[in-house]
Amino acid sequence: MRLRLPEERPAEPPTGYKIAHPVLSQDGTRAGFTGVSLGGALPYGALADASCVYGLRHRAPHRRCDCGFHCVHDRATAEGLLCTGEHRAAVLLDVTVLGAYIRFELGFRYARQRVRVATVGPCACGAVAVALADAGWGRPGWRGLAAACAGCVHGRTSVSLAGFARLAGDGLRVVAGSGHGVVAGVGHGVVAGAGLRPGVAHGLGVPELVAEAALLQARLDWFQSRLAGLEERGTDNRPKG
Ligand SMILES: [Zn+2]
Ligand SMILES: [Zn+2]
Repeated sequence: MRLRLPEERPAEPPTGYKIAHPVLSQDGTRAGFTGVSLGGALPYGALADASCVYGLRHRAPHRRCDCGFHCVHDRATAEGLLCTGEHRAAVLLDVTVLGAYIRFELGFRYARQRVRVATVGPCACGAVAVALADAGWGRPGWRGLAAACAGCVHGRTSVSLAGFARLAGDGLRVVAGSGHGVVAGVGHGVVAGAGLRPGVAHGLGVPELVAEAALLQARLDWFQSRLAGLEERGTDNRPKG
């Protein structure tokens, strides 16, 4: 006897939430995400198809496997995952579930995904993030990124939130959260990258430009302090006599 799950034919694709680490390609031209547990080795873009993480020759999600993208129905459930120590630097993703899916009590396992919004938490110091900066870990060909404020970004490899959205493409929006579960539209939020295409700057609003300016200023300050340090050393090393 074969049990069949009832088939659903929703008018609109379902949506859900998940957490992931933002990643930047080695050459800095592509941006994406990597899962926090299963499938964490395979970075994915803003619009992506799942493949079996075990390399099995079936379509993900397969009923007798646990492959495929995963998400939960409730934003609060996904936000709860960000409380654990190892997930503090992860970002919250708002996703559209595309293609075949398997519904669970808490969420979906599915074939194709569009990440619509990435909400970046505060910098480790507590200030609102203006950038995603090298987090000191990675996968072959990909650097892991974490939220950084203008004061903490220093000379690390980093991209602004709008820059990350541009590199990821496919209409991704990147939003700075305040760290209290608050997102864009509540005053602290910086909405970036909505509908941006590479090379198109006029899509940037005031909050995005303020965030970009803060990042540029922080980088300039860091560069000038390094330069001042080098000049001092240069003076000391000058041959005497
Ligand atoms: Zn599988
Ligand atoms: Zn900071």
